[in-house]
Parts: sequence; structure tokens; C-alpha cells
Amino acid sequence: MSSVPVLIRLLASSVSVANRAGKIVRDVMSKGELGIVEKGKDDYQTEADRSAQRCIIASLSAQYPKINIIGEEDGNQIQDSNEYLVMDSDQEILAINCPESLKGVEEKDIVVWVDPLDGTAEYTQGFLEHVTVLIGISVNERPVAGVIHQPYYKNVVGSDKIIGRTIWGLQEVGVGGFTLAPPPDSLVITTTRSHSNAIVENALQVMNAKQILRVGGAGYKVLQLLEGKASIYVFASPGCKKWDTCGPEAILSAAGGKLTDILGNHYKYGASESRPNKTGVLAAVYEDLHSYALSRIPQELKDELAK
Ligand code: AMP
Ligand code: MG
Ligand code: MG
Repeated sequence: MSSVPVLIRLLASSVSVANRAGKIVRDVMSKGELGIVEKGKDDYQTEADRSAQRCIIASLSAQYPKINIIGEEDGNQIQDSNEYLVMDSDQEILAINCPESLKGVEEKDIVVWVDPLDGTAEYTQGFLEHVTVLIGISVNERPVAGVIHQPYYKNVVGSDKIIGRTIWGLQEVGVGGFTLAPPPDSLVITTTRSHSNAIVENALQVMNAKQILRVGGAGYKVLQLLEGKASIYVFASPGCKKWDTCGPEAILSAAGGKLTDILGNHYKYGASESRPNKTGVLAAVYEDLHSYALSRIPQELKDELAK
């Protein structure tokens, strides 16, 4: 077991704990006591966000004490979280051959970004398919592996109905948990449904798209790119944070895609980086679609966000 490199073990643990967090998200909803707290303007937290984060952080820090784990929600004391401890590891991930470049990575080199529930606005409004659990693993400030779990995805395997699925990605290895599909024939944009403003709309208009999909969550939008439902993800606003993009960016780039800010620069995921992705999000499953989108954004808009 200990001969398996830490990065692989961590990804395998992240897949298992994301599944459990997804069950917590469903359980809170079916109990019906959401315990909504307003953190800021258009920014909410529920009991599901809090409990799912406790589960993920308690479980990962118990197994990897030297890793720096940063979660979205404040005030998540780890005591009394034993009921949530998940020590399982996904066996398929454990069997992966670790890329040479990641074999020597140690716990102290890793920063994990956790969004226990991405798409909280949609969760409270009943758009449950948009909800995801995000775990992003970064090394040397770059996202190298990630997990997107969809607690409400409906899957039929043979005669069994299975709820929830877990998508993963690892640099130099690839992606799993779903079927990668090419982008649609005509340009389809995916963007926010609950955090728009004039600049966000301006950046959408310049793209000359056939269709604009407005859905919740950074995780769900990146999934739409990976599954061929949308061509580009455009969000010209500072609202997303590092925990929204670390996992999705790792998976998208493991699939050959690219996620940057609106200026075309990569975000850094070191522990001391500021949380907000101040200069927005621009992502695509192919490099040339990303370049196209970048070339359409007017300089004034880039300047406005970079101010
Ligand atoms: P959206 O695409 O609006 O669903 O947002 C993706 C992620 O960024 C979610 O975690 C949102 O909570 C966060 N986000 C985006 N815009 C804002 C905002 N204006 N205020 C707070 N959070 C935001
Ligand atoms: Mg989020
Ligand atoms: Mg969240």
C-alpha cells in the first residue's frame, strides 16, 4: 500500500470521500432542513455545504496530516467529525501507474482545494443536477488531479438505477468516470445562471454564439464541456474562487482542454494565493476554441476586470 505514491493514494481517497460527501448532500435535502446562512450578497451556505466539508476535511487530514487542505466554508472544527470519517480508497485509482513527474511528490508539496457543494444557489432552488462536490489537488501551484462528484446524476447500469457519479482526472494519465465527447458543431457557451452582471453579459455577446446555456456551478459547466454539451465556458466576473476551479481545471487539462482567466493566464493554486479568481474564467475542451474565445474578448473588458 505504502509503495503507491502519495498523489495516487490521495486521488483514490478523494474519489471515495467525494462519494460520501455526495450522500450527505442528498441526505440533508431529503431531511428538508437546509439551515441556509447568507455569507454575502448572492452567496449562501447550507447544512449540506457545512457537513460535506467536515466529512472531506476530517477524512483527508486524518490520512494525510501534512497536506494543506483549504475548504470554502469557515468554522468547520474537525472535532466531533468521527461519524464522517471515510478511510476507503477507490481501487481503480489505486491501480493507476503514477506518472514519473509525480512519483516524488510528498504531502508537504500538496495543496488541496475543497468546494464541498458547488452550485449552492441551484441546490436551494431545486436545480439538483447542477450540484457538484469538488476536490482539486495542486502541486507547485498547478492543478494536477481532481474530482467532480455529481450527487444527483441518474445512471442506469443493467436493471439497476444508480444515483450519483464521480469524474476524475490526473495529469499525464487522463480522465475517468464518464465518456469524453467532442464539442458541439456550432458554438455553444455555458455560463452562470445566478451571478450575472453587465460585464458578464458583454463578454457573452461578443462570442457570436449559437446558444447560451445558463447553469449553476463551475463543476457542472466544466462537465458540460467534457461531455460535448458546450464549446466554451465564459464568466467575466471575480465571483469564482480557487476551490471552484482547481479540481475542474485539473480534469479539463488532463482531457486536453484549457482553463484560464479572461486574460488567458493560468491561476496559481499555492496556499497563499488569494481565494477569488478576480479576472474571471475562460475554458474550453480544445486549445483552438480557447484561443478563439480569448481573441473575441475586447481589451477594455480585460482592462476592466484586471483593475
Ligand atoms: P456560478 O457559475 O454563478 O454558478 O458560479 C460558480 C461558482 O462561483 C459558485 O461556487 C458560486 O458560488 C461562485 N460565484 C460566482 N459568482 C459569485 C458571486 N458574485 N458571489 C459569490 N459567489 C459567486
Ligand atoms: Mg463553488
Ligand atoms: Mg460551494
